[in-house]
Parts: sequence; C-alpha cells; structure tokens
Amino acid sequence: MLEALSQAVAAQLNNQVFTGGLALGAFGVVGAAILRLLPSLLRFIVEAWFITTVTVDSRSPLFEALVAWFAAHPYNARCRRLTAARVPQGDAEVLRLSPGQGSHFLREGGVLLWIERSVGVGKEGMVSAGRQPVETITMRALSRDRAVLTNLLLTVDRQFGGRDSDCIAVHMVESYGEWSGRTTIRRRPLSSVFLADGVGEALLEDARTFLASEAWYRTRGIPWRRGYLLYGPPGTGKTSLIRALASELDLDLSIVNLASDRLDDQQLCALLGTAPARSVLLFEDIDAVFRDRDAETAGRGITFSGLLNAIDGVMSQEGHLLVMTTNHLDRLDPALIRPGRIDRRQEIGLAEGGQIARMFRAFYPDRRDLAEAFVAALDGRALAPAALQGHFLQYRSDPEGAVRTAGTLGAQPPQP
Ligand code: ADP
Repeated sequence: MLEALSQAVAAQLNNQVFTGGLALGAFGVVGAAILRLLPSLLRFIVEAWFITTVTVDSRSPLFEALVAWFAAHPYNARCRRLTAARVPQGDAEVLRLSPGQGSHFLREGGVLLWIERSVGVGKEGMVSAGRQPVETITMRALSRDRAVLTNLLLTVDRQFGGRDSDCIAVHMVESYGEWSGRTTIRRRPLSSVFLADGVGEALLEDARTFLASEAWYRTRGIPWRRGYLLYGPPGTGKTSLIRALASELDLDLSIVNLASDRLDDQQLCALLGTAPARSVLLFEDIDAVFRDRDAETAGRGITFSGLLNAIDGVMSQEGHLLVMTTNHLDRLDPALIRPGRIDRRQEIGLAEGGQIARMFRAFYPDRRDLAEAFVAALDGRALAPAALQGHFLQYRSDPEGAVRTAGTLGAQPPQP
C-alpha cells in the first residue's frame, strides 16, 4: 500500500506539468508577499535615503518650545485640526491654539516638512488612569541634510525656549515615578531674596563657576558635580533662594519629594538618572525623610542606602546642581552630607539688623527713612523673613503702622 503511494508521488514529481504548476504557485506566493510589503519597503527606502526625522516628546523642555513655534507658524492660521491649551503670558494665562493631532505638511525655509503630532503612542506613551500621557511630535524633512532639522530646532529653542521669558520650567515627579511634563513658575531675581550680606551672591558665583568648568573637571578626571545644602529655620528663604539661583542661572528646577511613599529606591535611581538636563535637582526638607539610618520606616518607599546610591548616581550624571534643604542640620546623617555628596553647606539664618532694614526699604521704597526706626523697635530680635513679609503685607500701605506694631513680632518663628 505504502509502496503504491510512493510510486504515485514519484510519478507526479516527474510530471513536468505538475512541477511547473508548483513553481508558478510558489512564485505567486512570494510575489504576493512582495507586493504586500512593497508600500512599507518603499517607505523604508524613502525614509532611509531621502528624509531626516527627529522626534521630541513632552518630557523634554524642547517640546513646549516646539508647540509654541508651531502655534506661531503661518501654517497654524489655516490649520483646521487644532489643540487648545491655557498657557502663561506675563501675569495672565491666555488660550493658545496650535496644530493638533495627526499629520501636517508645511514649508519652512524652502524645505517641505511633514509634522506628526500624537498622544500616547508606544509603550511609554500609554494612557492609563492617573497617568499624564506622553505627547510626541515627529518632524520629517524632505532632505538628506541633518542640518535642516537641527538648525530649525536650535532656532526654535532660542526663540521659544522660554529662556528670556518671565518664567522658569519646573519638573515634578508624577505619582507613578516619572518626570512630569514641565510647568512654569515666575523667575525670582536674587535681589528679592534678603539674606545675610553676600550670601546669595557668593552661592550664585560658585554655581556659575561650576557650570562653566566642565573642561576643568574633565581634564582632572573629577566628576563634574556640585551638591549644596541650605540649612536654617523655616521661612528664612531657602526655597526662595533656590528659585532665584535657578532663575539667574537660567536653569530648570527638578523637584523630588522624597517623602512620597509611592517612590522606591529603583524608581528614585531611574528618576535621577533621567532628570532633565540643565536643571537644579532639589530635595526639600531632607531631615523629614530620614532622621538617621535607623528611621527607615516601612511606610516609606525609599531606604537610606537607596537614597545615597541614587545621589551618587546623580553625581555621575554630570553637570547637575543638587540642592538639599533642611530646617535641622543636626538631624542629618553625616553620610548624607559628606563632601562629594554635599560640597558646600550654607546656613540661611534669621534676619537681623541690616538685612531687616534692606527688606523694609524694599517694601516701603517711599519711606526708606523709617527702616532704622523699624529695626530699633525690634530691639535686637532676629526674625524669619517670612514673618517680616507677613507683617509688611499686613501694613502694606501703612509704614508707620508697621514700625509702631513691630513689637508684636515674635522672637522665633513657629516651629514646624
Ligand atoms: P524656607 O524655604 O526657608 O522655609 P521660603 O523660601 O519658602 O522659606 O519662604 C517662605 C515665604 O517667605 C516666601 O513667600 C518668601 O517670599 C518669603 N521669604 C522667606 N525668606 C525670605 C527672604 N530671605 N527674602 C525674601 N523673602 C523671603
């Protein structure tokens, strides 16, 4: 039986008509496959040979600048698929319409651009409950010359990057452990933070020197890094100073809330490794997170050693300024603030004499003459500038009243 079957098959295989049909069939299958793949194949060839592509997503500071550029482009006036947002402008917020999701074709500098805007594409952009979706802009230029797009991006960054605007960008950590898209806060001039003589200026100078010294660090094989610790009572201007430094240095602010119980060691490491470039990394009230090594409480996601590892990781992520603040220097574990992790400690203390007078004159520029009387009425007491600010706001249009009631200002700020 089997023999008969194999003979029949052999006979068929020798049959030329049958083999020809088989070959034709195989060719047909391959041909159909090629035809099916042709569009993607063509697209691949065109993209690889004739098109330059660049992608920017909403986690990058450049994204906002790109959207602002897109909104200001003449193409936006004739576009009918739009995205609306409220954005800060001066002291107010305005409605901004920009070309929306999908493909847009426009000419820029004589080159055809294909711009695709999309939300939640790919794994990283997944939209799920509580997550802010990642938005992506893909720019394609019909040119093999990379410079077409890189020059455009440099121009966009210069013109719309917000460096000259009234605001600096702030990055926070989302509950799921990723940097959020940036929000903005008003720039704060260093002159609006009243500190002991020269303290703010010295820190600014130090940070400037650091930021300009990449080559110096590299030639000596030293990691390009700088950590600051600002300590002192609450309401003395630590946070205000950091905001002013970032404003003066033209840096973003990236804030990590270490007390968040949603953050674990691994996430912290990843976060610090991906912190936005050119930003001050800020850990506030570091004493409230770990009083000492033993205080690794179960509710908190980060362990003390995890924090140290993450900080050392940041340090290897070159060029970041890491700033920690605390109201209680004595509660910090020495390992956290040893040189290499913290390179400079600065006390930001209560305001006294001349510092208080400077603040008084700034609040009452028309009654600068009363500053000495105000200081005298305080009878040598040192005060938190936050308390002074509150007092001056209460007597905003009554400088005499501010002097008359100076005695009501307490000697110590309320402890947290
Ligand atoms: P800290 O971080 O030391 O607790 P903040 O910077 O948060 O203090 O200040 C709280 C408030 O008090 C802010 O509104 C800030 O403007 C004001 N303030 C505190 N210290 C100063 C200061 N040295 N100069 C100007 N304003 C200050």
